[in-house]
Amino acid sequence: MSLEIPAELLPTDGRFGCGPAKIRPDAVAALASGGRTLLGTSHRQQPVRSLVQRVREGLATLYGLPDDFVVVLGNGGSTAFWDIAVSSLISRRSAHGAFGEFSGKFAKAAAAAPHLAEPVVTSVEPGQVVLPEAAEGVDAYAWAHNETSTGAIAPVRRPAGSGDALVLVDGTSAAGTVPVDFDQVDAYYFAPQKGFGSDGGLWFALLSPAAVTRMEKIAASDRWIPEILSLKLAHDNSVKQQTLNTPSLATLVLMAEQLDWMLAAGGLEFCTRRSAESSAHLYQWAEHHASATPFVARPEWRSPVVGTVDFDSSVDAAALAATLRSNGIVDVEPYRKLGRNQIRVGMFPAVEPDDVRALTVCIDWALPRL
Ligand SMILES: *Cc1c(COP(=O)(O)O)cnc(C)c1O
Repeated sequence: MSLEIPAELLPTDGRFGCGPAKIRPDAVAALASGGRTLLGTSHRQQPVRSLVQRVREGLATLYGLPDDFVVVLGNGGSTAFWDIAVSSLISRRSAHGAFGEFSGKFAKAAAAAPHLAEPVVTSVEPGQVVLPEAAEGVDAYAWAHNETSTGAIAPVRRPAGSGDALVLVDGTSAAGTVPVDFDQVDAYYFAPQKGFGSDGGLWFALLSPAAVTRMEKIAASDRWIPEILSLKLAHDNSVKQQTLNTPSLATLVLMAEQLDWMLAAGGLEFCTRRSAESSAHLYQWAEHHASATPFVARPEWRSPVVGTVDFDSSVDAAALAATLRSNGIVDVEPYRKLGRNQIRVGMFPAVEPDDVRALTVCIDWALPRL
């Protein structure tokens, strides 16, 4: 090890990744103990169905979800949900706001589909935010609530003039922290390995009545939909507290534990406050630092959950991240394809604000010694 950061400066937990992100030690302990009655048991029997129900109801409670929305889940993570939306929610043509890797990937999935017209894609440089604009013939509008690859947070609101087109928002890193107005969205979908401090492999979608109607209509049409991409099959299983095929039970246990923790601590308001405290510290530190600046220039676009900080040429951010890693502070490397002299810090509700403060202390200790 090149540099050893004094132990008294280190955070209590050194996991600052943006997905997979920190899983609370208490949740892991619950998996080891309580999990014994669930792990390795049938997902068609009552104990696992009760677990699925606990997660679905926990999400509805956390969000204060309107009664006519439905919580649907399935296998394959958010990436699978893009293809599910392409198969089961977009009738003919979608429009996308693309402002980073993830919002761009959904646009690519729609463009690749032979049964859809070419999508309308509005793109901006990483670090900025763009929502799709209303356009003729578009029946679904899509963007990411939080662009995890850049640390930019976008609003969730129906584009003016979008009529009865669906609004599909990727909430993968914002979910569990940032509130959502469910009048403004028809499918709010995410995976549990970020804000929900769980493991990957599943997707969840909070669906409006309009989204369910669209799903039914497309399912009844002559479009070929592989079973694993059928939102209707996922929906029909979910309302019976099941999944089409075997889910990761460990992921569900961790998710249920995290939801219980969030709700007991004060719900979404508590989560929002914790991440706001962590991110306010990180951005203030970066703004006052001689060689650092927040990557996202406009303060209202700075994500409360994924903080990106650029360094000037006096700092080798990769060497900094490697030094931190050798001291047990992991996953502050920037999104690989962004290619910037940067660190990226996950500040989901599971992360202690004091640990974010300790992180910047460790960076300030390490920088002059690199
Ligand atoms: C991580 C992430 C994804 C991909 O999630 P997977 O579960 O790995 O498919 C998609 N969108 C956003 C915004 C993400 O942060």
